Amino acid sequence: MDAPRNARGRREDALRRAGLKFLGGALVGAGLALMPAAQAAAPEPATEQPLLRELATAASAAELRATVGKLVGFGTRHTLSDTRSDTRGIGAARRWVQSRFEAISKDCGGCLEIVTPSKVVTGPRIPQPTEVVDIVAIQRGSADPNRVILVTGHLDSRASDIMDFTIDAPGANDDASGVAAVIEAARVLSRHKLRATIVYGALSGEEQGLVGGRILAEFARAQGWQVEADLNNDIVGNSRGQDGVHDNSSVRVFSEGTKATETAAQANRRRYNGGEVDSPSRNIARFMAALAERYLTNLRVKMVYRTDRYGRGGDQVAFLELGFPAVRVTEAHEDYTRQHQDVRVENGVAYGDTIAFVDFDYLARVTQLNLVTLAAMANAPAPPKGVAIEGAVTPDTTLKWQPQPGAAGHRVWWRDSTEPQWRHSRYVAADAPAPDRLTLKNVVIDDWFFGVSAVSADGYESPVVFPGDPGAF
Ligand SMILES: [Zn+2]
Repeated sequence: MDAPRNARGRREDALRRAGLKFLGGALVGAGLALMPAAQAAAPEPATEQPLLRELATAASAAELRATVGKLVGFGTRHTLSDTRSDTRGIGAARRWVQSRFEAISKDCGGCLEIVTPSKVVTGPRIPQPTEVVDIVAIQRGSADPNRVILVTGHLDSRASDIMDFTIDAPGANDDASGVAAVIEAARVLSRHKLRATIVYGALSGEEQGLVGGRILAEFARAQGWQVEADLNNDIVGNSRGQDGVHDNSSVRVFSEGTKATETAAQANRRRYNGGEVDSPSRNIARFMAALAERYLTNLRVKMVYRTDRYGRGGDQVAFLELGFPAVRVTEAHEDYTRQHQDVRVENGVAYGDTIAFVDFDYLARVTQLNLVTLAAMANAPAPPKGVAIEGAVTPDTTLKWQPQPGAAGHRVWWRDSTEPQWRHSRYVAADAPAPDRLTLKNVVIDDWFFGVSAVSADGYESPVVFPGDPGAF
């Protein structure tokens, strides 16, 4: 969403309700007074959110630096590394993360529940049966505890040889940066009551085959959680790319275009009617881009229409495979001499993922994108269910939906089929004569992509849901 354009659109909507017209930038009065029509539905809530403004500057670079420094200090956090030492290896790192969550929980009167889902795993990169353990903190929602939004990073690290579990593997950026963002999100958001549940996950076994992502996704399914998103932060702290670009004001959000769980029949319908670029994960990426534009200073979301970087993966894939919406957040310009490399100097090039190359002001901004997104989703009503569309061979388009509990209204959005962001919208109040549908006169179904969001009484808006199977959350 383009904020200025949206703001203007909403102002026009408000003026229209008040009987005024906005023509060519000039206000034209249609009556004498700004009197609402008799028995009009409730007005659209104001959309500006003071909490999101606050969260947009709430992450601490110093806290993030302290966390990354502590994690790097464990020498290696390889999934197969020592688990008994208190100073080196994945076991010590796991216990330290757990102690951080416990300390944060203590500060908020026990608002976090800490769980450690685990599984004994063998696989191509895990030759001996090994217990892979995730460290997870749960902040239960005050109104809708079964609606869950996750934020994750991976605790494990690696060196040049994926099987070498003793050599130093600092993993400062990959992915102590992501874990630091997760812990900082817990520290900041635990001071606030949010309507839906936030789950903070420090995952293990990512480098050995997305093991920890799968463990947490299966845990979520077993709990019956209604997962609305996993924001997976992996490699989020470096602002100097190997391509020579120094960019500390953009971040990439990768999202799948069509669902990993799409059936052949769903794919056939989607190929004909569209939906290739409107999975729930993609609409979460759009939601993040719009929030960044509105609330964040010096951070732009570059949406990438791809599940992950070319030929590479991350823990969000484990969520997508179980049908849960998920995105990958990654720095805008990577430096491959820092990733998956033994710490060494070769031909004058310093290799290795050391803390010297983490930009903590940048990491704070990426963390703030997470904070704003998590709170915005948690306080909004659930994304609408049962979004359907009709209007073939007529000049009008009708959107229908199941009104969401806690929604003061819904907003129908549409955009040009080649446009990246939602552009036009109309609000339908929950006490309108037809609160579950809207017919857009002379808007032809063939020519646009449509969606519906849910809006709370205090103006929090959910991500937009594209109609039918391709877009359903
Ligand atoms: Zn990684």
